[in-house]
Amino acid sequence: MNANVWNAARNLATALRIGHRESATGRTWFRRHRECPDWCAAGHRCTARLGYPSGEHRSAPMSVRAPYGSLVATRIETISGVGHIELRLSARLDRDEVTASRQAHLLAAGVDLTARAVLEGARRALPAGQVAA
Ligand SMILES: [Zn+2]
Repeated sequence: MNANVWNAARNLATALRIGHRESATGRTWFRRHRECPDWCAAGHRCTARLGYPSGEHRSAPMSVRAPYGSLVATRIETISGVGHIELRLSARLDRDEVTASRQAHLLAAGVDLTARAVLEGARRALPAGQVAA
C-alpha cells in the first residue's frame, strides 16, 4: 500500500473521530439527560434520555408465545409525554390462499376492534377500577 494513501486514510479517520465528538464550532453538544420512567429499558432503546426532539422511552419488548405464533409488545412514551404501545403479531396462516386471506383479514379486523374496545373501555373506566358497559 502506498504510504501517502495510508497516511491520508489515517488523517481522515482522525478527523472523523474528532468531528464526531465536536460540533463545527468546536463545542461539545451537551443536552440535559432526562430521567426514565420505571418501565423504560434505558440503554440503547431509550432516545429520550439524550434529549432528542423525537426521543422516546421504550420498554424492553415483552414476547408472548401463543398457539398461533407470537406477540411482541413494547411500551413507548414520547419526550412530550404521549404514551403508546407497539404490537407485533406473527401468526401462522392456512396453506390454502383463500383461507389464509380470510384469516388475515379477520385477524386484522379483530385486533383493530379489540384495540378500540380496550382503549375506549379504559377511558370510561370507573374510579373503583370497574369498566362501564
Ligand atoms: Zn427512557
